[in-house]
Amino acid sequence: MLLQIVQYGEKVLHETGKPVTKFDAELAELFENMVDTMYEAEGIGLAAQQVGLPLMFCVVDLNGCDPDFDYTLDGAKPPFDLFMPMAIANPKVELIKSKELAYEEGCLSFPEIRGDVERTDWIRCEFQDLQGNPHVIEANGLLGRCIQHEVDHLNGILFIDRMKKRVLKKIQPQVNQLKAKTLQNLKKATR
Ligand SMILES: [Zn+2]
Repeated sequence: MLLQIVQYGEKVLHETGKPVTKFDAELAELFENMVDTMYEAEGIGLAAQQVGLPLMFCVVDLNGCDPDFDYTLDGAKPPFDLFMPMAIANPKVELIKSKELAYEEGCLSFPEIRGDVERTDWIRCEFQDLQGNPHVIEANGLLGRCIQHEVDHLNGILFIDRMKKRVLKKIQPQVNQLKAKTLQNLKKATR
């Protein structure tokens, strides 16, 4: 089932997620629906906040992207398509000391708005899968960046919060316009 993606201007995007405590059929269904919604929107990651649920849960799938990055999962290097799409519950990200790189990011809650965000290249992320089993992924490049972007969402942090002032300044009119449009749509919906 496709879910509606929350647009910038809605409060839930600024909320910190509650920890996932039940690894049940309901979570499995949420995972399926979030993955379908992410594919439909042609995204590579989607956080629960973006479908209106302040929860420590996100999905990531980089299949089909240029595999110009490195990773280990639980200390091994399984083929990528074996663990994609990924369900990431209760993640804790640790930034591994490495170069900060700027890269143009987008976000499904900010249609057609893009801007450079500087992030650490390498991360280590502890998380739980759909069954509640603990894992550790270390990743750099697009995978490391995507996980950082999604885990930020789970903590109520948006990519515009991470942009340098001069980058944000350029897209601020589009961001304001989007916020106004979202608020207008919310008003219509409650009428
Ligand atoms: Zn996003």
